[in-house]
Amino acid sequence: MATKRNGLMCSMCGATDSAANPVVTVLDGLNLCTDCIKFIDEARDAQLKAKDRKTKKADEATSIPKPKDIKAFLDQYIVGQEEAKKYLSVAVYNHYKRINQQTSGDDVDIEKSNIILVGPTGTGKTLLAKTIARLLDVPFAIVDATVLTEAGYVGEDIESLLTRLLQACDYDVERAEKGIVFIDEIDKIARKSDNPSITRDVSGEGVQQGLLKLLEGSTVLVPPNGGRKHPEQKMIAVDTKNILFICGGAFDGIERKIASRLNTHVVGYGHDEGNRKKQRENLMRYVMPQDLKSFGLIPEIIGRLPILTSLEPLDKTALRKILTEPKNAITRQYKKLFLLDGVELDFSDDALDLIVDKAVEYKLGARGLRSIVETIMVDAMYEVPSNPVKKFTVDAKYVQDKLEKAHFEKTKISE
Ligand code: ADP
Repeated sequence: MATKRNGLMCSMCGATDSAANPVVTVLDGLNLCTDCIKFIDEARDAQLKAKDRKTKKADEATSIPKPKDIKAFLDQYIVGQEEAKKYLSVAVYNHYKRINQQTSGDDVDIEKSNIILVGPTGTGKTLLAKTIARLLDVPFAIVDATVLTEAGYVGEDIESLLTRLLQACDYDVERAEKGIVFIDEIDKIARKSDNPSITRDVSGEGVQQGLLKLLEGSTVLVPPNGGRKHPEQKMIAVDTKNILFICGGAFDGIERKIASRLNTHVVGYGHDEGNRKKQRENLMRYVMPQDLKSFGLIPEIIGRLPILTSLEPLDKTALRKILTEPKNAITRQYKKLFLLDGVELDFSDDALDLIVDKAVEYKLGARGLRSIVETIMVDAMYEVPSNPVKKFTVDAKYVQDKLEKAHFEKTKISE
């Protein structure tokens, strides 16, 4: 039996109550047909979803530390290198902001900003990259550019550098795709002459060409265990669009390229002897993309590494600070180790000065500080846990004795 119609009219669309589209009273004086109720429900759902997306995006945006916060975090671990820290903080902030806004729908495309750090070895390039990854809690991998070769030659395929990143996050591809890769010794794949060679340059240009597609962002097939690809091996597809590449290199001798460029461009500047000397000392800070080109990086690679900044050589004051100030400074680490045995460890000022002097004398730089301290501390670490002492002080004499005993001078690097 057909239901009796109520004769009501929908207040929204004007439809009359019918079996196909019944109209009901939802509020006093407000009648709605089934189609309109469905329409209102769907509109409300869509609105809620949009609001959710907006809050989520806002949450993501606020969860990226601001450049000043990034810099403050870096300050806890890295001594000096103010310029590099600032550049890196801004670049990293923009990079992650870019990732989070990718679905905004407008047509402004924020380009990826991979980074290149130029500076002497042992000045903190790797440490900077590593510390950023720690702050952001993203997967991080360090790869040495010198092990890479272009396909068909002995060495590792270029894609294998992403294997390390996958390994760093247990093969969670989605996480790896937002990770950071530090490519060390990028200067070692510079082509040998400034002119493009006709013959293939195995160690240089070919590898740079191979790197290009990773840097600019594309989907590449990665061998899960690294090394060379085998035809029968199952590959993992990784999109490098949002992977941040930080390249580092000492670029030995680039000062000469910078100097010759500055001499032609800085007219009137170079006549002053004081200025000239200062320029020579601080040349690295004037590094420009064209100097990288003169050094042998191909323009396409330079274009894919738009953030270029330099690190300064570390002087004695910086080395002294590195020994004690960073959050995980080497002396702090030893103090903690000793404290676990209930022993208070102390380094006298003259001991610290001597350690720095030795690092400079043996041209070991910051990296040498650790090996010197380790050499000094071996005996104490062997003895102290079995001796009921409450306090152990390392003074200059102790440092001198231990280094002599270990024939430390044999570690001297000739450069
Ligand atoms: P690079 O990559 O420039 O060759 P690293 O970052 O590997 O040098 O530095 C080697 C070690 O020296 C680091 O692990 C760190 O202990 C120390 N170091 C170098 N530079 C600094 C710095 N500016 N601040 C604190 N420690 C540093």
